[in-house]
Amino acid sequence: MTRLAYDLDLPELAELVKSWNEPAYRAKQIWQGLYQHFWQDPDEFTSLPKSLRDKMKAELEFSVLKPSIVLDASDKQTRKILFELPDGKRIEAVLMRYDPTTTESGKSGRIRRTLCISTQVGCAMGCTFCATGQMGFTRHLSSGEIVAQIMYYARYLNNVDERVTNIVLMGMGEPFHNYDNTMAAIDRLNDPDGYNFGARRFTISTSGLVPAIQRFAEEKRQVNLAVSLHASENERRTGMMPVNKRYKIEELIQACRDYVNATGRRITFEWALIHGINDTPEEARKLASLLKGMLCHVNAIPLNPTTGYTGQATTRERAEIFRATLEQAGIPCTIRMRRGIDIQAGCGQLASRV
Ligand code: SAH
Ligand code: SF4
Repeated sequence: MTRLAYDLDLPELAELVKSWNEPAYRAKQIWQGLYQHFWQDPDEFTSLPKSLRDKMKAELEFSVLKPSIVLDASDKQTRKILFELPDGKRIEAVLMRYDPTTTESGKSGRIRRTLCISTQVGCAMGCTFCATGQMGFTRHLSSGEIVAQIMYYARYLNNVDERVTNIVLMGMGEPFHNYDNTMAAIDRLNDPDGYNFGARRFTISTSGLVPAIQRFAEEKRQVNLAVSLHASENERRTGMMPVNKRYKIEELIQACRDYVNATGRRITFEWALIHGINDTPEEARKLASLLKGMLCHVNAIPLNPTTGYTGQATTRERAEIFRATLEQAGIPCTIRMRRGIDIQAGCGQLASRV
């Protein structure tokens, strides 16, 4: 039985190496090859004896992701790849480059290389405005399949002497519905002897699974948390996000307050601005009173229109009024402009097209 190399933690790899009657230090060498050199084929591990590489070939799977469509946006800063998994299922992962001269927020002059990664094939949450939600749920990704997306881009960037700086779990899927595999992937990438990617540079986005938010708060992880809110009263939110039937806004906001109190960490609320639906000043005021006093920030983004949903994107003017209204009420808000619109960079949009 072959196992996905990225599915193994270092102790599991050590166990495997031991079962091959190889010295223990070989496990560390393989680990460093995977996570520090980004090697993706046993033949690249030239410092290892051929006999060991043959065992790796026989018992470990390295090529997990086959890029089946690669799209570069006209801005040349965004690359989206539709990957095929070993079972033929497809997921998306996006690289967004921000350089000091091209930054859109105008706020930060720092270079960023942000990856947007998938955690599931499809999604069970069924948000009406979301291309992934419109596809339905197929399966969870294993931790290794999550890790593989990052290692693919880490290698790609490394070849041009660049590094991944941020990872957002905002691709296809609901990461808190696949909690254990998502956290295992983060922990694996965290390892100082491996990829050494700090927890603080990850952001998990959830549609609001309250028990998972509570668990996440208890675990006191350094990972950033974003919550997709999109509406400030239950009827509208339930219409957009069926998960709201299960966990109502009041319960969700309480869980968010508890999270902030337990961790001292700021929470981000995501808000897709939909013309005439949730982009009015009245809605901004309701949102402000909902979030009053919480250490938080609102990330608003004009809706990315999808074929399965009739709503349209807000306009620049309406978005600006929404932001100003929120800020006057004391809630910090950033309007994010959409990246890679011409390559369907919105979550699930490419996968749902093929
Ligand atoms: N399932 C998680 C993370 C993946 S979705 C979540 O829902 O939070 C990442 C973000 O994209 C979420 O905030 C989601 O609400 C938003 N999103 C989905 N479809 C969108 C669309 N068509 N336009 C704008 N934002 C969208
Ligand atoms: Fe799933 Fe998030 Fe899309 Fe909702 S917005 S369907 S939770 S991926």
